[in-house]
Amino acid sequence: MTIKTRFAPSPTGHLHVGNIRTALHNWMFAKKQGGLFLLRLDDTDSERSKEEYVDAIRADLAWLGLVPDEEQRQSARFERYEEQLERLKAAGRVYPAYETAQELDLKRKIQLGRGKPPIYDRAALDLTAEQISALEAEGRKPHWRFQLDHGKQITWTDQIRGDQHFDPSLLSDPVIRREDGSWLYMLPSAIDDIDMNITHVVRGEDHVANTAVQIQMFHALGAQPPEFAHEALLVGTEGKLSKRLGSLGVSSFREKHIEPQAIVALLARIGTSDPVEPIADVEPLIATFDFARFGRAPARFDDEELAQLNQKIVHLLDYADVKARLPEAMDSEAWAVIRPNLHDMGDVDQWWQVVTGPISPPEFSVEDREFLSMAHDRLEELEASSDLWKDLTGALKEATGRKGKSLFMPLRQALTGLDHGPDMNALLPLIGREVALERLVNTIA
Ligand code: GLU
Repeated sequence: MTIKTRFAPSPTGHLHVGNIRTALHNWMFAKKQGGLFLLRLDDTDSERSKEEYVDAIRADLAWLGLVPDEEQRQSARFERYEEQLERLKAAGRVYPAYETAQELDLKRKIQLGRGKPPIYDRAALDLTAEQISALEAEGRKPHWRFQLDHGKQITWTDQIRGDQHFDPSLLSDPVIRREDGSWLYMLPSAIDDIDMNITHVVRGEDHVANTAVQIQMFHALGAQPPEFAHEALLVGTEGKLSKRLGSLGVSSFREKHIEPQAIVALLARIGTSDPVEPIADVEPLIATFDFARFGRAPARFDDEELAQLNQKIVHLLDYADVKARLPEAMDSEAWAVIRPNLHDMGDVDQWWQVVTGPISPPEFSVEDREFLSMAHDRLEELEASSDLWKDLTGALKEATGRKGKSLFMPLRQALTGLDHGPDMNALLPLIGREVALERLVNTIA
């Protein structure tokens, strides 16, 4: 049996970090098992689903490296849902109901007022043929409910939550299709999971009660339910599911120069018993991926942790990984010199400008100008191929008696315009002898 997972977003908006985490776990589990990862677009809501979001979802997954092995769209499968609905009707597992939203709301209020759980009372099951004709004559159209089997307790062993148990008589028969013929999420999803041979459903724990209902749907459709893994939700450092996280997606990560590898490394591990580590290569993350290591407490997403992880990951990236994003003239040697100074890839241009100029050095004291003038003359005497920084500072030290900061700082400032930055020993050859001489002339002119 081929392991197959699916990520099933509704294209009614952009993916946020919570969705991304679910997608990642589905993908990683499939990869670890040598299985397949399906992207299923839950686009039954034709009004809210937008092509621009479909494109954005595909692009975001591609940027993260989570390439689906297959793509399906629910909007292409309405006939199939219709067919299966007919099957369930024939089996007596769905029934028409005619209550309006207001009537249902009133029922719930009365139940709650009496201290009872607001479970649908199945009044529609008691309607006689005449009552139904009368309602239809009034112009009412039915919505359809799936009839739970109260005689069958619902149990499954969740890969993260362990043994789960639901009493179906404590659940409402779910509405599966609206008056206007549009589909609610529950039944099409179960039909797809069957038809598309999904073996593992990995999703947020907000779906646990849906799973209870869907397990009965799988059985009613003559299928064995897949395995389920419901992961604890993602919360912000503020400790709750925040609006902020809900709008945090790939575009804001890109704006902040966060690498996809950093997001993957973080989201692969938070909420698990494995430590978050700067691992730029996804293979070791896949190798350690295991639902048994997922905790039940919410996973905490911390921007600061992401930023730090991102920096460590940038320091691991090879020239080949980043070449396309570097200034044209920047070679692997330059990358090696500049890389340790980067907070993120957004800093590259600034450091490259230190190499190529222009730079703006500070004003120097009279003594420092004399010193820099001497530096100019000494540098002029050096071969371009020599160990420029070592030879220059060695000669100046001997000639002036300067050492430490008073020796290095005016040189660094004159040559880079900054008082910190890459190791001068490595940086000076990148700047080059000619440009360095010019910069020294400029500061003493
Ligand atoms: N479209 C559903 C959602 O985004 C899919 C849930 C599922 O994974 O079954 O909530």
